[in-house]
Amino acid sequence: MVCKIVKTDKFTSFVCSRGFGNNTCDTCGAPSSLLCDFELKNSSRKTCDRRICKSCTTRIENKDYCPPHIRFLRSTNDHP
Ligand SMILES: [Zn+2]
Ligand SMILES: [Zn+2]
Repeated sequence: MVCKIVKTDKFTSFVCSRGFGNNTCDTCGAPSSLLCDFELKNSSRKTCDRRICKSCTTRIENKDYCPPHIRFLRSTNDHP
């Protein structure tokens, strides 16, 4: 098991990795309770599902988006 300390400007947490299935943020490694709700257009009813934490998510209309998809949404202006 690999353990590491993850520090953000809001909190410090201890993250232990036990391989796949861990709920850690894909962006910063903090404990993650959210999944990206971005809908992938080339596969129906599938969402991105990238793991994101509360400090990395951006919530729009009750959906959470990972940083790359927020950049994508802003560049397409689908969600002003
Ligand atoms: Zn994060
Ligand atoms: Zn995403």
